[in-house]
Amino acid sequence: MESELLKFLEQKIRRVPDFPKKGILFYDITPVLQDAKAFKTAIDLMCNLITNELGDNFDKVASIESRGFILGSAVAYTLNKGFVMVRKEGKLPYETLSYSYGLEYGTATCEIHIDAISKGEKVVVIDDLIATGGTAVATAKLVRELGGNVIGALFLIELTSLEGRKELEKENIKVLSILKY
Ligand code: AMP
Repeated sequence: MESELLKFLEQKIRRVPDFPKKGILFYDITPVLQDAKAFKTAIDLMCNLITNELGDNFDKVASIESRGFILGSAVAYTLNKGFVMVRKEGKLPYETLSYSYGLEYGTATCEIHIDAISKGEKVVVIDDLIATGGTAVATAKLVRELGGNVIGALFLIELTSLEGRKELEKENIKVLSILKY
């Protein structure tokens, strides 16, 4: 049953060559989001994986914009957790902590509100895709700097050849993903 759902979901991921620049194969999740059954399937599979692998004993989901927000907030709502936004530089209105990191394409700085996490809170990091792992590690570092305990990271898509998983595992973060390429 689950393998059929995975197959269905996989068919909804559109691969766009040379976006946003030459040589990058972009995994576009918009066909998943715009199909009610596919969107629900993705969120249900993500929630089940968290519950089975990490349990229910955590407080918040932290995600990075913009596709991470869509999946992360739906998972947080479904599992009755708080949701924390990690945003690109200059977007958050209140006092922030910031962290700079390298991407598969380019570099970026991300920020979190200083009151987004309380000391000791357990947090799951969620994004649509893990490539080199830089974005997820940056998110985890910001959460940790605020005293949060990152209990795991979950992705709809994992690009295994880029070995982002290793970067998170080096930080002692358990990595979960639904679709692996
Ligand atoms: P990374 O920091 O290298 O793990 O890159 C992950 C972040 O960049 C995620 O927020 C993804 O949405 C985005 N990203 C990186 N590579 C791709 C790709 N090939 N297709 C779609 N999104 C990507």
